[in-house]
Amino acid sequence: MSKHFDAIVIGAGQAGPSLAGRLTQSGMKVALIERKLFGGTCVNTGCMPTKTLVASAYAAHLARRAADYGVVTGGPISIDMKRVQERAATVSFNARTSVEKWLRSMENCTVIQGHARFESASSVRVDDQLLSASRIFINVGGRAHVPNMPGVRDVPYLTNSSILQVDFVPKHLVVVGGSYVGLEFAQMFRRFGSQVTVVEQGERLVSREDEDVSRGIAEILSSEGIAVRTHAQCISLAGHEQGVEVHVSCKQGEPTVIGSHVLLAVGRRANTDDLGLDRAGIEVDTRGYIKVDDRLATNVPGVWAMGDCNGRGAFTHTAYNDFEIIAANLLDGADRRVSQRILAYALYIDPPLGRVGVTESQARASGKKLLIGTRPMTRVGRAVEKGETQGFMKVIVDAGSKRIIGASILSVGGDEAIHGIVDVMNADTPYTTLQWAVPIHPTVSELIPTVLGDLKPAT
Ligand SMILES: Cc1cc2nc3c(=O)[nH]c(=O)nc-3n(C[C@H](O)[C@H](O)[C@H](O)COP(=O)(O)OP(=O)(O)OC[C@H]3O[C@@H](n4cnc5c(N)ncnc54)[C@H](O)[C@@H]3O)c2cc1C
Repeated sequence: MSKHFDAIVIGAGQAGPSLAGRLTQSGMKVALIERKLFGGTCVNTGCMPTKTLVASAYAAHLARRAADYGVVTGGPISIDMKRVQERAATVSFNARTSVEKWLRSMENCTVIQGHARFESASSVRVDDQLLSASRIFINVGGRAHVPNMPGVRDVPYLTNSSILQVDFVPKHLVVVGGSYVGLEFAQMFRRFGSQVTVVEQGERLVSREDEDVSRGIAEILSSEGIAVRTHAQCISLAGHEQGVEVHVSCKQGEPTVIGSHVLLAVGRRANTDDLGLDRAGIEVDTRGYIKVDDRLATNVPGVWAMGDCNGRGAFTHTAYNDFEIIAANLLDGADRRVSQRILAYALYIDPPLGRVGVTESQARASGKKLLIGTRPMTRVGRAVEKGETQGFMKVIVDAGSKRIIGASILSVGGDEAIHGIVDVMNADTPYTTLQWAVPIHPTVSELIPTVLGDLKPAT
């Protein structure tokens, strides 16, 4: 006998709990299933603990630079890694328990702990319980991808989850993967006192970004003594008396790096392989992401997929926006679509990279006539006053429509300053609206109108 609900939500990540809230408010009886930690990746092993650690690392960095500001600290700076680790764990714990409490107190919501698997297009099994509903929402997220590289089964390695348990300063952390997740950990552990080497297969760091952005990021990291090995074509791991030997086979330099610990940060994979999707006939793509249409419906009527597992976004805000789209369409009679979303995100090294829209290379490939403005942070008063002048800002405008189509702000406060541009792009208004605004002095944002007043045709 199955227990019947109006809706089943699988996964308490960034979309599931909010959707359960809207569905129950509309009078539906909802079952929400979570197999592990309420709040999912962001709360437990992603955004929240990492940004808490980044804040500790920033404090250490500023403390070491105290003399630059005329501040006397009275001796070398040291790190209490146990307290650093506990601080991050506490932030996650508080958020996790708050999500769980909220769900458990939600009227008409039955919270079930366990691993959900589809039995059919309208039923799901959790251990010995069979649940059925005419609407099922999948919010199962993803996990660290562990590549099948030689030696990976022979040495202990860290992932974004297990590294959060590290309550000591590793002597030499080798980070395999020079993209968003890897670089945040690389810089924070360098600031905690580890020697750090980043090993990247591609020819440059964060290769999805423009070359000038990759270069700016590499300069920031190397200025702090982080070694970067790019072109690492045949990465393999082997045990070593000091910890681990990472074969990098780079075109230049030593063929191996000896580290005390290795972090694998080479991408994510969707949690769809153990969900019984085949029993429901739900299609996935070649990488295991659930195929959805522009309104996030799967190929099976009555089943939707939200968040990282649908491959349409890889961020907390895109997962949350998936919830908003589904809730608006189902409950408010709206017609919202994923293709209406303008993608923005940040890379939280320090200074952070704030990004929105297309990169310059994508813009150039589109064949549009472009106007481009840039400014180094050395010419931004707020950055000079703060003594944090690394990076630059760049804005790309479609000359025909006068719309901003992309921007990168690699700067102190870049994760916040980018939102002025995000808002103008969402308002679908010409760049001159922002050019003639009167921003607050002194801020990083106040220089955006200046950049817009100095746009040059792309050659
Ligand atoms: C190190 C790191 C740092 C990050 N930093 C940022 C950041 O700063 N900003 C940002 O926007 N994004 C960041 N992200 C990405 C962000 O964490 C994810 O995009 C976001 O958590 C995706 O949310 P989700 O709801 O799709 O899935 P998740 O948050 O992963 O939630 C999925 C939930 O489903 C549960 N589940 C899975 N399978 C089943 C099953 N079969 N049965 C029951 N339950 C199941 C899981 O236990 C989990 O709780 C970061 C990620 C990492 C790894």
